[in-house]
Amino acid sequence: MMPGSVVYLDNNATTALAPEALDAMLPYLSGLYANPSSAYGPAATAKKGVAEARAAVAALLGCSPAEIVFTSGATESNHAAILGALSAASGKRHLITSQVEHPSVLLMCRHLERLGMEVSYLPVDSEGRLDLATLPSAIRPDTALISLLWANNETGAIFPIPEAAAIARSRGVLFHTDATQAMGKIPMDLRQVPVDLLSCSAHKIHGPKGVGALYVRKGLTLPPLFHGHQERGRRGGTENVPAIVGFGVAARLHDELEREMRRLAALRDRLERGILAFMPCAQVHAQDTPRLPNTSNIGFATLDGEELLHRLEQAGVLASAGAACAAGGHEPSHVLTAMGLSKTSVLASLRFSLGRYSRAEDVDHLLRVLPSILLKLMDVPEIIARETLSCAH
Ligand code: PMP
Repeated sequence: MMPGSVVYLDNNATTALAPEALDAMLPYLSGLYANPSSAYGPAATAKKGVAEARAAVAALLGCSPAEIVFTSGATESNHAAILGALSAASGKRHLITSQVEHPSVLLMCRHLERLGMEVSYLPVDSEGRLDLATLPSAIRPDTALISLLWANNETGAIFPIPEAAAIARSRGVLFHTDATQAMGKIPMDLRQVPVDLLSCSAHKIHGPKGVGALYVRKGLTLPPLFHGHQERGRRGGTENVPAIVGFGVAARLHDELEREMRRLAALRDRLERGILAFMPCAQVHAQDTPRLPNTSNIGFATLDGEELLHRLEQAGVLASAGAACAAGGHEPSHVLTAMGLSKTSVLASLRFSLGRYSRAEDVDHLLRVLPSILLKLMDVPEIIARETLSCAH
């Protein structure tokens, strides 16, 4: 629960800062303010804080600390990967990505297209699945980079990244994955997966906002986005030490991943079962594809999702219509649209995303308040028995 007894079911938008991360950050926001690049004693403490965080983030990803470059978040990491790959592969002007990427990738691709680059957007099917067979034929001699989401922020659908990265490797093309939603939610071992570049962000794993990382495989050197001597020349700018320390502590909290995955999947199933029991015509998107244990994207027939969201908030539940970044724009989700849903179905869909502090009581609160909200929106008198609720309404 959030302060004020609000049930927070929007953990894919952002997560609560873990108290452990906050405690670790506080000294660096006060007395330990030295610049880690300075030569005196207190700077060594800051430098050590950054080094420990680097080791913790690397451990969660299954890579070596030297392969981690701290950034301001996944948006920056995505941009550094895409622009870095393009400027390293001089003359190559083609990128491959998918139709369902995060806007930080898609909008950069649109920008690059305006500058004369070419981008292939791989489609997904109605379950949000990527057909790997479409990848080899999309690769061209001038392909500089393949960039694919590991897990989708809106539906939780997981792409077959190990297999896609292996195809890229066999064709000699650099491979980047935006793993912002996958990190800390599914096991990851970059020693076993041939990705060259990976983006992640602290605030999706109960760390602070404004800090993330770009994994750069050992041996790969890309021109940086920000030039400077920090991060071994790979990302200039004085390190955000408190945030980096908080990121490290948050990463360490995910050591019992398998157990947490089971817990979250059970909560998610309880949520979905409860909703489907009341509204059998509700549709769980990406249900038949591997997906994150914490994410449930549900279509409520033809109801107005914005209105549903608003009423849920009045009843103390915070969820999301599509991605937080797109919220307010009233644009139907590009992810659900790419899955072939009609505009009405897209606009009737809400995302519920669970996190470390989600409890059965939170789901039960949602299931308690939702039925009467749905009945009101459908204009069905409450007096009608539950059993009669069908999609005809
Ligand atoms: N990629 C994905 C898949 C995301 O979910 C997000 C956050 N919504 C981002 C990138 C951007 O992350 P950040 O907020 O750290 O820039």
